[in-house]
Amino acid sequence: MSNVLIYVEAENGAAKKSSLEAVSYGAAVAEMLGGKAVAVAAADLSADHAGELAKFGADKVLHFGGTVNQSSEIAELVAAAAQQENAAVVVTAKSINADLAVPMIGVKLKASVATNVTALPDLSNGFVVTRAAYTGKAITQVSLHSNVKVLSIKKNASGTKEYNKTLAVESFNANISASKITVKEVKKQTGEILLPEADIVVSAGRGLKGPENWGMIEELAKTLGAATACSKPVSDMDWRPHHEHVGQTGIKVSPNLYFAIGISGAIQHLAGVNSSKVIVVVNKDPEAPFFKSADYGIVGDAFEVVPKLNEALKAAL
Ligand SMILES: Cc1cc2nc3c(=O)[nH]c(=O)nc-3n(C[C@H](O)[C@H](O)[C@H](O)COP(=O)(O)OP(=O)(O)OC[C@H]3O[C@@H](n4cnc5c(N)ncnc54)[C@H](O)[C@@H]3O)c2cc1C
Repeated sequence: MSNVLIYVEAENGAAKKSSLEAVSYGAAVAEMLGGKAVAVAAADLSADHAGELAKFGADKVLHFGGTVNQSSEIAELVAAAAQQENAAVVVTAKSINADLAVPMIGVKLKASVATNVTALPDLSNGFVVTRAAYTGKAITQVSLHSNVKVLSIKKNASGTKEYNKTLAVESFNANISASKITVKEVKKQTGEILLPEADIVVSAGRGLKGPENWGMIEELAKTLGAATACSKPVSDMDWRPHHEHVGQTGIKVSPNLYFAIGISGAIQHLAGVNSSKVIVVVNKDPEAPFFKSADYGIVGDAFEVVPKLNEALKAAL
């Protein structure tokens, strides 16, 4: 029992970036264990895009013909696939649905579970995984002892790797029980770049003074190919939509580059953004707490700095 089963989520027919990271992570674990990396996906992953998973390390894709929208359905699909493939390790990317499904998968497979995993397991003395804890402020190492292990991978922690594999796509049938929850309406975030998956995020706070001033933030985001985000008070005051609110009580993001413009850097905001690879802070107050977490800081008025930054980036990119 050395295969690895990876659950792949899709958006507009293609695998999400975080799922591709999970596939590469799963492929690396399968190599360590001497097994195969098998991905499982539902119908929202198109057949064409299913074939692309080989590039990220999958040896096989189990393609389920139906849709799985709820965590209980995901758990049934993944557990059935893991049992069929005799998987020793199950890998998922972090997402709202997968986060709820992971403990259910653990129960179904009698598996130990580790969430927020940031690195490949250490197999030199059992099966030890490194995971982020306390909203990214601490790192813990957890030893998993059960036969089957379920790992949920933190976004943007392990990245993707290119493989040159030949892939088998197989249709997969699983008996998914009717959910006890009725979904009445699904409202999806629109826009080209989805915030949870974005590589670059341009975020702004109450320092922007009002919703009418977001034009320069959107311009900067457009120049950088970034998603826009905001602090909690900004969405509470309806200056920006709620799906842009990042932080402890909002979306958690881990982009490669996070711009914080006119945001103080309260602990509850940092909890949702502190695993960003590079943080750039623009704030007129040199004592703003966000500077302590910044890789680069500009002390200045956003209304002067942001347009100049945008012009310079436009010229450079
Ligand atoms: C239980 C709980 C949960 C919370 N969850 C979240 C959460 O998930 N996300 C979140 O964001 N907050 C959250 N908060 C709120 C959080 O504590 C802060 O109040 C909030 O993050 C502050 O938002 P802000 O930085 O936009 O505004 P402010 O604190 O008002 O800061 C504005 C900043 O803009 C700067 N500024 C002003 N004018 C300019 C200018 N012209 N140019 C440049 N800089 C300027 C100021 O110096 C200041 O640093 C939570 C609070 C609680 C109690």
